[in-house]
Amino acid sequence: MTVSAIEFSRLGPPKLVLYAMRCTACRTLHPWWEKYTCEKCKGRELVEENLAGTGELVNYTVVYYPPRDFLGQEPYVVGHIELDEGVKMPAPVVGLSPDEVEVGTRVKSTLRRMKLGHEGDVYYSQKFVVDPSPRRRKPARRPGNPARDAT
Ligand SMILES: [Zn+2]
Repeated sequence: MTVSAIEFSRLGPPKLVLYAMRCTACRTLHPWWEKYTCEKCKGRELVEENLAGTGELVNYTVVYYPPRDFLGQEPYVVGHIELDEGVKMPAPVVGLSPDEVEVGTRVKSTLRRMKLGHEGDVYYSQKFVVDPSPRRRKPARRPGNPARDAT
């Protein structure tokens, strides 16, 4: 979720936590932008559920040629984060250089300045930083995952 400084002041910090949408019928968790329909059971009632904000970087890319709004931030890392609740979301990973980034890194969400708008307004959003707290790491290889077994 990206919000401008104006929205930031209107919504307030409680609304700026990382959240996902839980299907009330089958309990499947979806990314926050899936607001209306559950992909699994086609249920039409999804409710917001706050996430702890911790997870693992499962893939990433390094952006060297960003869109206009992000000029000056390159090179930067954007990856998919698999949150501990099981939902996967794309997000920037900051605080480490592109050659330090590694799949499987434990990360946690933080609220950061995202970009400058065309009118000079500032936008905020969730980014991820390396989580230094000692936690289990998932094994790099999972049995039965052909995409990973193929490499
Ligand atoms: Zn469902």
